[in-house]
Amino acid sequence: MGFSDIRDQDIPIRFLANMLRSGRMANGLLFWGPEGVGKRMAAIELAKAVNCGQGDGNACGTCLSCRKVAHSNHPDVKIIVPSGKSRNIAVDVIDSINELAAYRPYESTWRVVIFDDVHRMGEAAQNHFLKTLEEPPSKTMFVLVTPSPRMLLPTIRSRCQQVRFGSLHPATVAELLRRDHDIPESTALALASVAQGQMSRALDLVVSGKRDAVLHVMEELANGADPLTMSEGFATHVRQQQDALRAALKAEAANQDEDDGSRADAEDAKSEQDALVEAMLRRDLMEYLYLMLAWCRDEWVYRAAGGMQCVLNRDQEARLAKGALNAGAARLEAIDKAWLYIERNLSMERVFRDLFFKLAPQASS
Ligand SMILES: [Zn+2]
Repeated sequence: MGFSDIRDQDIPIRFLANMLRSGRMANGLLFWGPEGVGKRMAAIELAKAVNCGQGDGNACGTCLSCRKVAHSNHPDVKIIVPSGKSRNIAVDVIDSINELAAYRPYESTWRVVIFDDVHRMGEAAQNHFLKTLEEPPSKTMFVLVTPSPRMLLPTIRSRCQQVRFGSLHPATVAELLRRDHDIPESTALALASVAQGQMSRALDLVVSGKRDAVLHVMEELANGADPLTMSEGFATHVRQQQDALRAALKAEAANQDEDDGSRADAEDAKSEQDALVEAMLRRDLMEYLYLMLAWCRDEWVYRAAGGMQCVLNRDQEARLAKGALNAGAARLEAIDKAWLYIERNLSMERVFRDLFFKLAPQASS
């Protein structure tokens, strides 16, 4: 590994390499951009490079220091991830980091503290952290990693050098899906395009089966299936997936509870956890709507362009060639509205029922 293994991020990587070469290090860095595009990986490479004996703006990957970072057992490189019932970065975690930062690094030139998903740091914790960030200890570098920088206090953001990461090229995501997950070429390209160049999102599509479920619904509706029956079946399917997700999160939280006796206010923790689950479920629903939107868009584009050149679901030519009689702006608008209703917390069953009637061929002609 090295900076050169981080794909499609030439601008941020060049910035980091220049910083390392010049020796003028920032004490606070904010890596932001879409999820699953290599931000965390870049932070780890930075932690290696800044302490690498052979350093010339890149990490050798083979010296003792580089290997320790790679195996997460370097005493001066800490990666903080959200944890506990409500999956956040808690005040006591920040306090221990603040305490640690008062001492010089144990064995290296730079201590590097990486906060992954730093938007999960609550306001109180951010305020505790702010003091350290305002008067950063020399030889300590904080790397804040997040897709949602706006959830950080402006005072935190302004103390950091911001480094923006972009989406990956779909061809890159497709290549990684083929190489690391054995996914056939045409499917890999389709998943990469639909996932808008976000590796983690493409992988979620592989594992969750969301795209297959949506493609099935769209095909059945095009074939004249009853929208009411289809919407009920779909809502049940989504409900089951969500129940499984909820149960998994609860089990994980219960596990963490056993070794986390410090949780003072159990009621607070419970409502925080419920809020987290709700947010994740809503995000799931948004992803389903996005997949429907991508499909309707594809039907439209396929007809307009007379071929596959601008289509996202690139492995679906047979389906697109067969259907596509009901492509139209009304369907895109209907999905847009459904989006709004889900944001406003309307019942999923009702939103899908109304939507499926509009997606069915007779409604949009
Ligand atoms: Zn090295």
